[in-house]
Amino acid sequence: MVITDAIAKCKVNIQLFTLAIGRLHQETVDMTKATEKHYGISIAKVYPEESDLQAFIDQYGMNGFYDGEVAKKVCCGARKIKPLNAALSGADAWLTGQRREQSTTRVELDFEEHDDTRGIAKFNPLFDWAESDIWAYIKQENVPIHPLHLKGYPSIGCEPCTRQVKKGENIRAGRWWWLQSDSKECGLHVKK
Ligand code: SF4
Repeated sequence: MVITDAIAKCKVNIQLFTLAIGRLHQETVDMTKATEKHYGISIAKVYPEESDLQAFIDQYGMNGFYDGEVAKKVCCGARKIKPLNAALSGADAWLTGQRREQSTTRVELDFEEHDDTRGIAKFNPLFDWAESDIWAYIKQENVPIHPLHLKGYPSIGCEPCTRQVKKGENIRAGRWWWLQSDSKECGLHVKK
């Protein structure tokens, strides 16, 4: 939302899109509409292929990702990664909201990197921001807040794969909590 705010206010020609995964919280779906209304912008929705979803359900079941890492990777591949690849096809670069302090898999994050998988540049403008910097910006710039952030969800993904975190837990502890800690990524940011 911080990056969206900067793009909208600076009126730069950067396309915004959201992955319409089909398993998001209703609050997340509503947040996209609220963001469009707040800034007077349009956010493109990128959908997964029906045939990919059906293939996953046929093999693993609707919630088969609870069985383990393999099924989770297949589900994330169909619902997130393939649509993301389609959305970035033809793009010169993309921006992400990743930050170093979010998880052990992000501690070496830099401002700019090359996305070898997609052959384009990738920028992480918030790479060295602390969580307190994020909230300070949100307050100062009156950025809309996802309601689940105020209910114990510091990191929000798909509804069946995200739970509230307890005090003192890592901010991504509520993501795929039934898997090992090094599995807190869906593959969107995996390097070759
Ligand atoms: S986060 Fe969960 S529901 Fe969402 S795509 Fe990944 S495995 Fe599927």
